[in-house]
Amino acid sequence: MKADYILVNGKFYTSNEAQPWADAAAVKDGKFAAVGSWEDMSPCTADCPVYDLGGRLVLPGMIDAHTHMGLSVMLGDDDDGFPMYDCKSKQEILETLRREVKAHPFKLYYAMFIGQAEALDGETLTRWELDKIVKFRPVILMESECHSAWVNSAALKLMRYNRNTPDPAPGYSYMERTADGELTGCIKEMAMLPLLEICGNVSDKDMKSGMKKIMDYLVAHGVTTVFDAGNYLNEENTYKLLKEMDEAGDLPVRVEGTHIINMPDKLPGAIEKFKYFRDTYTTENIKFKTMKMMFDGTQRIRTAKMLEPYNGTEITGGTIIPHELLNQFVRDLDAEGIDFHLHTVGEGAIRMVMDAVEKARTELGRPLNIRVTCAHVEVLHPDDINRFKELDIIANFTPHWHGGACAADIHAMEKLLGEYRANNSLQAKTVFDTGACVTFSSDEVSLHTLDRWSPFTGMEIGHTRREINEDGSLGPVFPPAAECLELEDLIKGYTINAAYQLRLENQIGSIEPGKDADMVILKENLFEMDPYEIHNILPEAVIIRGKKR
Ligand SMILES: [Zn+2]
Repeated sequence: MKADYILVNGKFYTSNEAQPWADAAAVKDGKFAAVGSWEDMSPCTADCPVYDLGGRLVLPGMIDAHTHMGLSVMLGDDDDGFPMYDCKSKQEILETLRREVKAHPFKLYYAMFIGQAEALDGETLTRWELDKIVKFRPVILMESECHSAWVNSAALKLMRYNRNTPDPAPGYSYMERTADGELTGCIKEMAMLPLLEICGNVSDKDMKSGMKKIMDYLVAHGVTTVFDAGNYLNEENTYKLLKEMDEAGDLPVRVEGTHIINMPDKLPGAIEKFKYFRDTYTTENIKFKTMKMMFDGTQRIRTAKMLEPYNGTEITGGTIIPHELLNQFVRDLDAEGIDFHLHTVGEGAIRMVMDAVEKARTELGRPLNIRVTCAHVEVLHPDDINRFKELDIIANFTPHWHGGACAADIHAMEKLLGEYRANNSLQAKTVFDTGACVTFSSDEVSLHTLDRWSPFTGMEIGHTRREINEDGSLGPVFPPAAECLELEDLIKGYTINAAYQLRLENQIGSIEPGKDADMVILKENLFEMDPYEIHNILPEAVIIRGKKR
């Protein structure tokens, strides 16, 4: 057999447990024809180009197992939206708004991101304070994680929200109220969907250029496949654009699409909607196998579902639907063969998913046909650590948060969660060591922070548990230090394990004969370099299906 080309004298880290390292690989028709030593290449050697890698490290193509391209594109990247991104107090936020309104007096609305929710922690920002600055046009201040927003009275009016509007899912998605029931203007979770409709109105041209920007960045940083974990209101536009790109030969990565359930009223009909996307937008590089659900919220705003209340409160957070509906939905998805990916931050949400899977397995008398993934897994109860492996539930983590990006610092975490939970969060290594399938991702929602999309940023922070600050300095080790991940495990989570999550383990995820020839060639040796330089890695070459991008 004649190969198209052979790469020799490399250090191939294959993610294939049967053959973890190799020094040569032959590629034919976009697939690996042989992997091993130079001798193993001999059946392929007859008269084909041979390239000497000069000892360079080669990794399998990276897989981002949870991120949000369409949502990021919708939120845009013009600097208009970010003047208060670095504000550190309520006073600064109000002053910035005042300045922005003065500088842009004729805007139809003012939509901006607040970078750090902590800027407000302990203090409430009310619509009456915002009304004093802008009375007749909507003001929307979105927290950068996109889980809460502060708006003025004009924005509430535009959304048709008033004191009689019921909360979509109390505890999880609701509107903050005064003691006598008036809306304060603070909106938690997806009750703010109508806001995204107002401020996420991006033109086709901007969608296209934003998507191209993300794709170029991902591929340049070694990503060859992406799980698109949901785009809120931008689903149709996102998949339409991706399909157009693929049909024009402009989609460099494989995309696993989804349909996202982010409000309780989207549950009935969700499977039909999912099938619509699958029927309408499947192409060679775009597939739909997984339903997404925003099952709970976030720690910062106490909407993530806990087993015990948040420190010093009676709040335990909430979930989008109660457990009876979840149990039934798991059964429904199993019957349809649609995999299930759930946003689960809190210990209570994770346990509900585990209980639902366990119950379904008992009732069916067999393991599920579908793959279930708990994403984020920030606070995990010790009793549930082994249940990922036992119930065959995949745990998806976002390693670039493992330096403590979810909180200002450990003291803020302790204040929020109490000492034990704060000092035992994000236990990816412990879960990995149980033998469960652990996958990694960037979970990004912004074009403004592209460096966070790089799997190498994730690898560095997952390995060191130290945040990389904007000025390049490093934060302290985020506890527990024992949760620092090995680089081998990080690579597995970004390759073969992520392929399993996406049901692509027979096609990609490792460098082995028969699989698509996806490779990332590095100048640096990841395993020997200064770990604090890993986030700077820019691969020398990225090869997808045998072709250099
Ligand atoms: Zn996400």
